[in-house]
Amino acid sequence: MAKKSSTKEPDHCCFCGRSADEVELMIAGDNAAICSDCARIAYESAKEALSSDDNIKTNGKIKGKSKLFKPAEIKAFLDEYVIGQEDAKRFLSVAVYNHYKRINLKDDLVEKSNILLVGPTGTGKTLLARTIARMLNVPFAIVDATVLTEAGYVGEDVESILTRLLQDADYNVEMAEKGIVFIDEIDKIARKSDNPSITRDVSGEGVQQALLKILEGSIVNVPPQGGRKHPEQKMIAVNTENILFICGGAFEGIERNIAQRLNTQVIGFGAREKHESIDTDNLIQYIAPQDLRSYGLIPEIIGRLPVLTHLDPLDRPTLLAILTRPKNALVKQYKEIFSLDGIELSIPDEVLEYIVDTAIEYKLGARGLRTICEAIMMDDMFDAPTSSEKTLVITLEKAKQKVARFAGKMMGAGSQ
Ligand code: ADP
Repeated sequence: MAKKSSTKEPDHCCFCGRSADEVELMIAGDNAAICSDCARIAYESAKEALSSDDNIKTNGKIKGKSKLFKPAEIKAFLDEYVIGQEDAKRFLSVAVYNHYKRINLKDDLVEKSNILLVGPTGTGKTLLARTIARMLNVPFAIVDATVLTEAGYVGEDVESILTRLLQDADYNVEMAEKGIVFIDEIDKIARKSDNPSITRDVSGEGVQQALLKILEGSIVNVPPQGGRKHPEQKMIAVNTENILFICGGAFEGIERNIAQRLNTQVIGFGAREKHESIDTDNLIQYIAPQDLRSYGLIPEIIGRLPVLTHLDPLDRPTLLAILTRPKNALVKQYKEIFSLDGIELSIPDEVLEYIVDTAIEYKLGARGLRTICEAIMMDDMFDAPTSSEKTLVITLEKAKQKVARFAGKMMGAGSQ
């Protein structure tokens, strides 16, 4: 390619060398030009190459064959964003690796490994699923199982789960078919009674049955705009065989089912030592498929969620780490916000500990950390753009003052 000075617009096509008066149209940039003939050839070649390339990005998401990350790589990525939850991270890493290996190798022998994450609310279930999707750069949708109902009832049809995924894939069906769906609050569609179908259980067993079809891999007709199916709405057929479903639920009270099972087992085996080694403070770690069944999930659903793992409750050191350690930790975010206004923010350790203690005291969990930080720094954020200060130190006294005001509001709200 002939070198041109950046001040002079090139007057020859950099590809075929013809001048502007020899071609139909010359498209010139700062340092290069291309004639319409060469542009046409380039376009055709690119189109052909792109249609055969397995690693094309569409809408920023990977279409076709995606890079196969090894479990250790997936876990390392999760570690950057999610604190603790070692078991869940390991299970998830292996399941995701197997899932995409199966897709890439088109190996039908390996069954799909949908995942069920059981753990208290606010412990990182959604965060794990979201982080995995971000790493893999695949379409991702979060849906709440509580809004789903059996077809024909008020609420959303189960197929609408896939509408969200299609929307995230910009209606590229091929891409959506390799995406990840996070179904939150799956525990809320557990059968309410142990006796199946005495009366119709609109939000329970019926929805589980409907969900089954989607989880196990089938061609589903999806309403592109979501909501209820209208006869006049043109459906999009989506094959769910390669969609990875990650379900999450708190399964409140399931500890009772676990304890009961463990107790029976212990008595059955007569093994005292076994009983002693059980950590009764965190029974969720012993969760097994039987417990889900006694909680009200139908066996077919449990079978379609073969990877079962748990999340631990967040203790004080974990909450403290969540404030500061993840790549996008709250403290890092606030520092960034203030630095954009030319202010260096400093939050002493005693204040960080105070924030964590407040979250624990008000039972706000990890979600509450942000609320508390906002309450403490709201006025400073308001003033920052017009302030002449170059540093801002959040003192314990100030933090307490702001939290007292915030707590006052919370009490007010609670008593309404
Ligand atoms: P869940 O889905 O279990 O109810 P989320 O994943 O939505 O909880 O967590 C809520 C928020 O709390 C997240 O956005 C994140 O900021 C924070 N969080 C919760 N658990 C963790 C964790 N283990 N590591 C880092 N952040 C966490």
